[in-house]
Amino acid sequence: MCAKLIDGKKISSKIKDELKTKVAQLKTDGIHPTLAVVLVGEDPASKVYVRNKKRACDYIGIRSLSYELSEKTTEQELLDLVHDLNTREDVHGILVQLPLPGHIDEEKVICDIDPSKDVDGFHPYSVGSLSIGKEGFISCTPAGIMQLLKRSDISIDGKECVVIGRSNIVGKPIGLLLLRENGTVTTCHSRTKDLPEVCRRADILVVAIGKAKYINETFIKKGAVIIDVGMNRDENGKLCGDVDFDACCEVASAITPVPGGVGPMTIAMLMHNCVIAAQRLS
Ligand code: NAP
Repeated sequence: MCAKLIDGKKISSKIKDELKTKVAQLKTDGIHPTLAVVLVGEDPASKVYVRNKKRACDYIGIRSLSYELSEKTTEQELLDLVHDLNTREDVHGILVQLPLPGHIDEEKVICDIDPSKDVDGFHPYSVGSLSIGKEGFISCTPAGIMQLLKRSDISIDGKECVVIGRSNIVGKPIGLLLLRENGTVTTCHSRTKDLPEVCRRADILVVAIGKAKYINETFIKKGAVIIDVGMNRDENGKLCGDVDFDACCEVASAITPVPGGVGPMTIAMLMHNCVIAAQRLS
């Protein structure tokens, strides 16, 4: 029997529709949520991401301001733009698309974004707020995973949660979020001994390693929930996750597909953060 599919496409559409209604309400109160999107250089993948983010803004009714800067933009020029956007009252969210060209210090740019406009949730203030349970922006992919679980009625309280991966944008924040919801959290990484054995403890397994179909049924406890964050290409160039979906769905109780699982949630949560920013700043 195959596991229940956790449909990120459907759940993200619902969130976007809810946000559309919310934005329409805000506009009647004179608040017009606005996101500034900054892209430096010509990276094709970044251009696609930026286009998709602007499309989502259009759908929801968020105004998007686009700054497409040349590859040769200096760090100071980019910082000047960020400072200008920080001070503008009509801008609620600032998104600097990563990666930046090698001559620009990404960390410096992220640190200069006003935390109250840090809709990506990458600023150290946002990260610190998450870790001590203070109000702040939660980075979009982990926030999206929590929505997938909540909206699929999967309870976290008291569950064994195993996260594979300890990156700043996925592994660490999702561990903190699961902990906040009273999960018993184990974080694994490339030095973890006997990974399959640790994973087989999981009621909820979150996989964010970046290796195509690395996780097979030998890692899965019967009835576990699997969240596959990976976005990879298989041997035929087809988009696939870190989990071998066909093998694992025979053992799991619920599973996210790739594509159509975690991926669509990331943009939906970015939109959510923009709306929250507009509300907090107005
Ligand atoms: P990352 O920064 O490369 O981190 C990968 C993590 O996996 C590291 O902590 C690494 O351990 C661990 N790891 C690698 N090989 C391992 C192994 N054999 N056993 C156990 N742990 C292992 O990656 P990321 O940015 O978190 O992204 C992970 C995946 O999610 C990628 O496929 C990425 O494309 C995808 N992603 C998707 C979205 C989305 O919106 N759907 C968003 C972000 C990322 P060490 O720390 O020890 O090196």
